[in-house]
Amino acid sequence: MIQTENTAIVLRHVNYRDNDRMVTLLSPSRGRIDAIIRNCRKPKSHNLNSGELFALGDYMMHENGGHITVTSVRLIETFYPLRNDYDRLTCGTYLLNLTEAVIEPEQPEQELFMLLLHTLSRLTFSDQEWKPLLAGFLLHFSACQGFKPRLNHCVFCGKRLEAGEPAFFDSEEGGVLCGACRRRKDQVPLSAEQLRWMRGALETGSAGWVNTEEASAPFTLLRKYVEQRLGRRIRSASMLPE
Ligand SMILES: [Zn+2]
Repeated sequence: MIQTENTAIVLRHVNYRDNDRMVTLLSPSRGRIDAIIRNCRKPKSHNLNSGELFALGDYMMHENGGHITVTSVRLIETFYPLRNDYDRLTCGTYLLNLTEAVIEPEQPEQELFMLLLHTLSRLTFSDQEWKPLLAGFLLHFSACQGFKPRLNHCVFCGKRLEAGEPAFFDSEEGGVLCGACRRRKDQVPLSAEQLRWMRGALETGSAGWVNTEEASAPFTLLRKYVEQRLGRRIRSASMLPE
């Protein structure tokens, strides 16, 4: 049996037996960790909040073969105010579900971990609008998972798309195309403002993911793009606000 300490955030939990909980954690250095927290559902448990969704802390663990048991937790943040706003809570849950869909045991995810924490902090503690926040998350998420959309040159003819010229987005090809190369209706039009917004959002952190004009952050388009690349349904996606 070995003892380890891992900074991690709870992405998912399932109640187990009378007082225990199985959790899926994201650790920046170890990726996905599935563990059990014993007695965390007893009212007087020291670990009461450490098995809740969004709980961020230093998790002390006993590891025995494939079985990992959390023995104690130093909580860092619970993102508690998210619970007071149903729409933002749904957005936060969606971020957890997306993250859970791509992580693997013992595959470090430093960049994704920081991206998730920064976006959750903005969602919880700022009044930044949720659509550009999630759109920015989706762009950076695709970048750190290796399918960053190509936004500067047409994916078919390679021509550079200049500001103001008609542009379209092809989810399958993963990037923009020019008007001359468009063949299908599902290659959706991008406004000049949306293209400018995406190019800018990739260059900045979460503080910069704001709408400069109404509907400039193409959230729906990026959501479809990322979910299509993952090839699976994200459970909370259908609950997202309009
Ligand atoms: Zn073209």
